[in-house]
Amino acid sequence: MKYKDKKKVLVIGSLNVDMVTNVDHTPVAGETILGDKLDLIPGGKGANQACAAGRLGADVTMFGALGDDQYAMISKKSLIDSGINVSYLIKKKHTGTGVALITVDKEGDNSIVVIPGANAKLSMEDIDRNIVLIEQSDIVVFQLEIPVETVLYAARKAKELNKLVILDPAPAPPEFPMELYRYVDVIKPNETELGILAKTENVLENLYEATELLKDYGVKHVIVTLGNKGVYVNSFSQGIEQIPSYEVQVVDTTAAGDSFTASLALMLAEGKELMEAVRYANLVAAIVVTRKGAQSSIPSVDEVREYEG
Ligand code: ADP
Repeated sequence: MKYKDKKKVLVIGSLNVDMVTNVDHTPVAGETILGDKLDLIPGGKGANQACAAGRLGADVTMFGALGDDQYAMISKKSLIDSGINVSYLIKKKHTGTGVALITVDKEGDNSIVVIPGANAKLSMEDIDRNIVLIEQSDIVVFQLEIPVETVLYAARKAKELNKLVILDPAPAPPEFPMELYRYVDVIKPNETELGILAKTENVLENLYEATELLKDYGVKHVIVTLGNKGVYVNSFSQGIEQIPSYEVQVVDTTAAGDSFTASLALMLAEGKELMEAVRYANLVAAIVVTRKGAQSSIPSVDEVREYEG
């Protein structure tokens, strides 16, 4: 497909820098321990999804907020390297770039402190001032690491402008604005997020009821990622289908969900049918879990082609 024929994807969301160190064990209150070294790794669900879609060949613009510190450039550079349009990113004065402080212990378990910084300041006014971005896009992708009222406002605008709206509802907030469901074409929770949104326990045994509920609220297509159990789709037009995951050697599941959402956006931007998009996303996410890291584990379009055989 020629670049100019592709639909434009706009990701509105978070940008973080992950500060990661390996430790023997997670320190308890009052304890000081040594880490091995400090790695600064670009992250944030918005930026991860933009990078993934860009590396897989989508025409992507990222909209979000960075701080006025040295970490902003780390985040921006990784987007630029993935071919993303970053010219609309906002710099918030007297504010830090979002960071995540992560320790990884020798069992591989994480402890994470997130400081949202500039992400928490992305406002409805910022959306209004940059409304041209929504006007000029075809597909708008959201997650929930920026204020939910900003997501609601931007999704409402996107729907008024007749755009396709994809929502990755992570992290799922305890209070989700019901109005938002009406503006969402595709929602992609994992099983935990679906449980929170549908207020359902034992979600795996109640996938039909929980996904029907989100459709009753106004969503058109509900796509639930189930880790190594694959994907469950409940769509108003395509019906219900459960697709198994690929059998792979799992190394690190970081960014599995983000790359899944990005692949969906990419395929829908290329005009593919929903179920074809889901199958492709299932493959890309399976490749991602065989590699370490977040943005670094995302395959290029040629690498995916090799797996497709
Ligand atoms: P999240 O990262 O949001 O929790 P999931 O764990 O549900 O998302 O994973 C997203 C997708 O990644 C799955 O639907 C599947 O396509 C793929 N995936 C995740 N874990 C595995 C696995 N162990 N083997 C194969 N594919 C996997």
